Amino acid sequence: MKTKVAIVGAGPAGSSAAIALSKKGIPNILIDKRGTVGIPVQCAEFVGLNINAYVDLNSVPSAINQKIKFMDIDAGKNFYRFDGKGYVLNRAIFDRHLADEAVKSGSKFLTSTRVYKINRQKNSIDVLNVEEKISYEIYYDYLIVATGPKNGFGYPKNSAYIYATQIKANLLKGLDSVICYFRPYIPYGYGWVFPKGKFANVGIGIEKPLSDMPLSLSLNKFTNEIRGMGLVGLKIIEKTSGLVPVSGLNAITDGNIALCGDAAGLTHPITGAGILSAVISGGLAGDYAAESIKSSKNLFEDYKEEIESIFKKPLFNAAKKRSELYPLMRDDPGINKNIKQLWPSFEEYYK
Ligand SMILES: Cc1cc2nc3c(=O)[nH]c(=O)nc-3n(C[C@H](O)[C@H](O)[C@H](O)COP(=O)(O)OP(=O)(O)OC[C@H]3O[C@@H](n4cnc5c(N)ncnc54)[C@H](O)[C@@H]3O)c2cc1C
Repeated sequence: MKTKVAIVGAGPAGSSAAIALSKKGIPNILIDKRGTVGIPVQCAEFVGLNINAYVDLNSVPSAINQKIKFMDIDAGKNFYRFDGKGYVLNRAIFDRHLADEAVKSGSKFLTSTRVYKINRQKNSIDVLNVEEKISYEIYYDYLIVATGPKNGFGYPKNSAYIYATQIKANLLKGLDSVICYFRPYIPYGYGWVFPKGKFANVGIGIEKPLSDMPLSLSLNKFTNEIRGMGLVGLKIIEKTSGLVPVSGLNAITDGNIALCGDAAGLTHPITGAGILSAVISGGLAGDYAAESIKSSKNLFEDYKEEIESIFKKPLFNAAKKRSELYPLMRDDPGINKNIKQLWPSFEEYYK
């Protein structure tokens, strides 16, 4: 099989790349190892309003679980409220919508297909249809790697990860805010309650191996605390876990290969937000691949420059704050003393 651009991974980054390419009339193949895109959801699903500049959510209202007005920070002793307009998405529908948009615009989409090797000399990838157990090769002019947090294929792994675990629970009180909790028993990370109608995503993320606190212990303590507040019910409707890269920018290009989204380390090292940066970087990778093909000139170094101009400084600063401030936040006075310098909603963060 042959294509102009192959895209590995149909998360928000890969599908955004495929949409950009197809809208410019460039033949491309989007490939994902999952049978159904977006499932299982490994995300707390909050995204700010600025997603509207990139994805037309009006055309897919079911991709929004709930609108959000505020972002609340509960630091134990102190509580803070900020303007935090945005959405708790339904990621399964959101991710599916982006992949569908790509297909409608002309992308070829291979599901249940794992890319297991890049043959850089031959400009090809080896793929395996995991259902039919058939392996074959796809030749490309350009390759976009959008494989999520573990990236793979010999690229340097993101050097620090939050290990996150989350349950879906019944929400007992209406909420119009996403709430982030800082507690000594959630070291090098935070807990969250993100409402979605009658339910909520309730989770914790801890940086490993910096902390040896077992995830299940931290999650149990957290769910017990918020159940005690009367926020959520006892029943665990779903459970999920996943990795969030928190070290900042990673490899972005490699010859005629571009990386985007979590694979390029674009999640915010403090908040863990990565949906919007995946959509933006995927769209840009698609745009630069399309222009490279049209001009017969590899423009991926320009892609790298643009990604660095948008993300390098803010992600570097956030990674630095993470490593400097979290060690001081292992107890209650430490949390309240440092929270304003740590979390980007506070003015003090930017001083
Ligand atoms: C618990 C948790 C909570 C989070 N909460 C938030 C939040 O509230 N807000 C926010 O903005 N961000 C959040 N994030 C981060 C966000 O989910 C990611 O930043 C975002 O999904 C990155 O998109 P992506 O397209 O780069 O990667 P992904 O969404 O991970 O997609 C990668 C795709 O590549 C496919 N793939 C991987 N390897 C291969 C292969 N070899 N062959 C074929 N296919 C492959 C995978 O199946 C997957 O579909 C959270 C993350 C976690 C783990």
